[in-house]
Amino acid sequence: MPLHIIRQDITKLKCEAIVNAANNTLLGGGGVDGAIHKAAGGKLLEECKTLGGCDTGDAKITKGYNLLCKYVIHTVGPIWRGGQFNEKALLESCYRKSLTLAKLHGCESVAFPLISSGVYGYPKDRALSVAVDTISEFLFDNEMTVYIVVFDKEAYEISEELFDDVTEYIDDNYLDERFGWQTKTEHYNPSCFDTEGEGRYYKIDCQELAEMFGEVPNKLIDMLSKMDDNFAVTLLKLIDIKGITEVECYKKANVSKQTWYKIMNEKNYKPSKNTVIAFAIALELSLEETKHLLSTVGFTLSKSNKFDIIIEYFLLNKEYNIFTINETLFKFDQVCLGM
Ligand code: ADP
Repeated sequence: MPLHIIRQDITKLKCEAIVNAANNTLLGGGGVDGAIHKAAGGKLLEECKTLGGCDTGDAKITKGYNLLCKYVIHTVGPIWRGGQFNEKALLESCYRKSLTLAKLHGCESVAFPLISSGVYGYPKDRALSVAVDTISEFLFDNEMTVYIVVFDKEAYEISEELFDDVTEYIDDNYLDERFGWQTKTEHYNPSCFDTEGEGRYYKIDCQELAEMFGEVPNKLIDMLSKMDDNFAVTLLKLIDIKGITEVECYKKANVSKQTWYKIMNEKNYKPSKNTVIAFAIALELSLEETKHLLSTVGFTLSKSNKFDIIIEYFLLNKEYNIFTINETLFKFDQVCLGM
């Protein structure tokens, strides 16, 4: 998957370049900067001393020394002063300049911390969305694997409204197969676990749900159901029907070119369920269309699987931004889409 959001210590990450949230002097500091210098050893500081500092929004590159990466890209994020002082543009520039430097040095994988979101005070949710938007834009024209490393879980906050909505949807639809009834998502929010509402002794069928949300069987699904095509052929037909290009489709699905190639050329290649769903999101398929696409590789969506229910929520709400979906999956401790 070209863009991964992971929770880890960036100094322990094995990839070609890691990005440092540095200050203008480039002579080391606290936070991630301190951690990177400590792990890289004194030679990193020696090289940094030769660089003559760095402007806010710009980036410079050094070797990685004792780190697991070949390069460290030092970028200086803006200090948050309320949002009216060009902070967003400067932060975007940090990501763009760092990615351009990585590309110039032939890096195929780069990891970013959430720049400016620590001591520099940029609100973490906004810092994350700037990171995701800017990196995705770059990835549209470039092949690279990029990691956004989120150190603390709180940094990865989807909006409260979306979180509440998804929680409610899981509450209403999660079917615990051991008991055959639905249970609350007490795991995420113990305070909302009201015993009165605990376990409803009925099941909502997917079809019923689709009807509730006004999804009516459509011509496309009719047409596809009559054909016995495999995944690759179905995918190509859908791409054609939706009027997008193949590249647009796999980029939007956050799927790598290599995976796309395997799907199209290796006869026995079976994509993961996760990848199939990523394509469904990229193609903006309905719930029924998604189920059809999944069925071509023998998968289905289940009511006893939180991941599936979250996907169902987004399909029914026609929210197809894969990064919003991934942020939500991450928040609910589920694997993200893509491969
Ligand atoms: P800035 O001065 O740009 O705000 P900070 O280093 O204070 O930089 O924080 C940037 C982000 O890096 C914060 O979200 C912080 O939680 C995170 N961070 C700190 N240490 C690490 C680490 N070892 N790996 C990844 N992220 C880290």
